[in-house]
Amino acid sequence: MNPTRSARSATRPLAAAVLAFVCLVGLAGLVAACAPVPAAAPPGPGIGGVAAAGRAAPDRAPTPPTPAPVDETAHPGPTDLDLTAHSPTDPASPWVVVNRRTPLDPADYVPDLTTVRGYLVQPVVAADLTAMLAAAEQDGVHLTLRSAYRSYGYQVSTYDGWVRKLGRAAADKVSAPPGHSEHQTGLAVDLGSSTQPACDFSPCFAGTVEGRWIAAHVTEFGFLLRYTPDVVDITGYAPEGWHVRYVGRDLASSMARHAVRTLEEIFDVPGGNPGE
Ligand SMILES: [Zn+2]
Repeated sequence: MNPTRSARSATRPLAAAVLAFVCLVGLAGLVAACAPVPAAAPPGPGIGGVAAAGRAAPDRAPTPPTPAPVDETAHPGPTDLDLTAHSPTDPASPWVVVNRRTPLDPADYVPDLTTVRGYLVQPVVAADLTAMLAAAEQDGVHLTLRSAYRSYGYQVSTYDGWVRKLGRAAADKVSAPPGHSEHQTGLAVDLGSSTQPACDFSPCFAGTVEGRWIAAHVTEFGFLLRYTPDVVDITGYAPEGWHVRYVGRDLASSMARHAVRTLEEIFDVPGGNPGE
């Protein structure tokens, strides 16, 4: 299911209906010609008033309702991006989708890496991550980096540790099996709180100054807050207000504008927790 494609296709019947309406009115002699309605029709005389929204002004004789202009360029969204520009399956792609159900291929993939504040990330992430940290500082918010790239081998020991501690079912709630972690792509970063460091990696992080700043601003810098409370069934992960995933500014801002929540939904990739 792709909600954005569905939303866009829904505008086409509307445009057809508008065209049919104009044609009908034209036959009644009220307009001179039946011409295709341009996608971005110039505003009619009612612009700025209620007539522009499709309702007749109350102090006029009945007039055909003026449809709201359809200007698709005003709201470029995921469907206006070339969604084939980057692969959702190539582990080196900034749009790769990896979750509990969909592992990296190969599972022991190692990306190109560089460092930001001593943490390893893919080179494509570095400039925007640095800019985001600087922007937070300008707002008086000091974000710390707590984790970034983690290798397949590291994830083996991390996941096994959780399994020993909690059992597999509970471990699957909090840790990714090896090959299934976004951290292995070098595109994910865990951020920390300088004002309430006790909340790092904890649910209370989302309520910290730093957590709130992240939620409000990450998309401006090409990141997604990947594991939010409303998409647990899709991602398969409990909420993590500290885990941000780089996808680039075009996709992140487009998703934000269109309220598309997850990579799984955009790219039709299975997610969720296969253990449930
Ligand atoms: Zn993380």
